[in-house]
Amino acid sequence: MDSLRDVVVIGGGVVGTAIVRALSLYNMSIMLVEKQHDVCEGTSKANSAIIHTGFDAKPGSVESDCLRRSRELWPELIGALKIPFLPCGAVMVAASETEKAKIIEHYVPNAEANGVEVRYIEKEELLEMNPDVSEHNLGGLVIEGEGICDPFWVTRAFAQLAELNGAEIRFGSGVERIEPADDDSHLVIVLEDGSEIRTRYAVNAAGLWSDEIADMVKDESFVITPRKGQFILTEDTLGISQIVLPVPSPSSKGILAAPVVFGGFLLGPTAEDQEDKWDRSTTDDGMEAVLNGVEKLLPGIRSATTIRQFAGLRAVCSTGDFVISPSPRSHRLIHAAGIRSTGLSSSPGIAERVVELLRSTDLIMTERSEAILELPDLLGESDAASNGEIICLCRSITRGEIERALSAPLSSTTLDGIKRRTGAMLGECQGNGCIPKLLDVMESFTASRGLAKAGGEEAPLKGLRESYIAGQAGGRDNEI
Ligand SMILES: Cc1cc2nc3c(=O)[nH]c(=O)nc-3n(C[C@H](O)[C@H](O)[C@H](O)COP(=O)(O)OP(=O)(O)OC[C@H]3O[C@@H](n4cnc5c(N)ncnc54)[C@H](O)[C@@H]3O)c2cc1C
Repeated sequence: MDSLRDVVVIGGGVVGTAIVRALSLYNMSIMLVEKQHDVCEGTSKANSAIIHTGFDAKPGSVESDCLRRSRELWPELIGALKIPFLPCGAVMVAASETEKAKIIEHYVPNAEANGVEVRYIEKEELLEMNPDVSEHNLGGLVIEGEGICDPFWVTRAFAQLAELNGAEIRFGSGVERIEPADDDSHLVIVLEDGSEIRTRYAVNAAGLWSDEIADMVKDESFVITPRKGQFILTEDTLGISQIVLPVPSPSSKGILAAPVVFGGFLLGPTAEDQEDKWDRSTTDDGMEAVLNGVEKLLPGIRSATTIRQFAGLRAVCSTGDFVISPSPRSHRLIHAAGIRSTGLSSSPGIAERVVELLRSTDLIMTERSEAILELPDLLGESDAASNGEIICLCRSITRGEIERALSAPLSSTTLDGIKRRTGAMLGECQGNGCIPKLLDVMESFTASRGLAKAGGEEAPLKGLRESYIAGQAGGRDNEI
């Protein structure tokens, strides 16, 4: 029988991996189970990539508390996990006297209540910093603390650090059922393949599906509904140096324009309620809504060239706030659920809250004295970059960088996984130029590893080329 774990985290998005990293700093047996075959396959991979300050969060909410604490934790984490971060700041523009009044009367005091520094600037300063912004705007609210990161990097780095500290990470492990032990001493987690994991506590970080995980212990205390956000990516140069956002609507932070940490600009997202938790398709109407929204901020945007469009789904919670608490039906299941629109930014604070909740249980949590706090140079960023021929011309990614991504801990053998680990295929040509060469590197590298390892064992990537061609014939997905 499988040994008894102390904590199993369900879900390998930014929230689940932040939690498993935080738990891996303690002497405990920790496991993360993720339904998909990599981390960051859910909402965490398709968002605006902004590390928000929480200036506009509802004071006193769980969300604003997590954002406040995360603001304190990010500077150290960004350094320790080598997270690419663009501290560009944001500006919320006032397009009318009514919006200016809303900024001054609502957003300034709200930001102050949340401890976030903001300042109102007049039109001249706004246009000096962001020449492409419409001249009709009256001014804007600058939020210096906001910045842009790479969400996949954050999620991967959390998971890699946890793995280095001994946490076990299992992909392709969808949770199907949770059964409390008869004597309530532990939970039995039953996976889709029928295997069982016994654990003292479980953490529900299953994003859009966290209400279904709750339901597994007959907890119907919250419901999650998806709200789609569609985006456009452009590599054109835009005359903005900050994240430019409108005064938000009740359902979303509004359609904005933001720099991408590795280059280019992101436009969007829309806010469309739907029922299907899997539908991340983009639509003509959605694209038009994005362009209409951004046009109000940047009148010349329609001349920009789109290189990609994609959509993400927010997990909208019926409670209206994050749910970070033990389930009312089982004290052994801790929810980190309903993390709607700021989960990337608030993930360190959420993780700390979950650790605190677990510390108040019967678990013995002593700090690991030899815990690794900084991520080593796993992808060989320093030496691999200069190693070998350039495979991705748009992003100057070398053979060495691809090979390091294939061999690093928590490596991936899918094109998407390599794309997100190296940045290859993310440039202007979106992989059209480099995919054949990439497949060659991936196939020969893993084949040589496979042969060396298992004397004739089939190469792990066998069939990748065929599945890529099949995918092309059927239309490639729109995800980043
Ligand atoms: C359009 C849009 C824009 C956004 N912009 C920002 C932003 O700029 N800044 C910001 O901070 N936040 C932003 N967000 C919010 C942020 O992306 C989310 O809050 C965050 O990604 C939620 O992370 P998560 O780990 O809870 O969920 P997910 O990333 O969805 O992870 C949940 C994981 O659980 C797994 N799972 C589900 N069911 C099971 C099961 N039964 N067994 C095992 N695994 C399971 C899933 O496969 C998935 O990988 C935005 C969101 C959207 C949609």
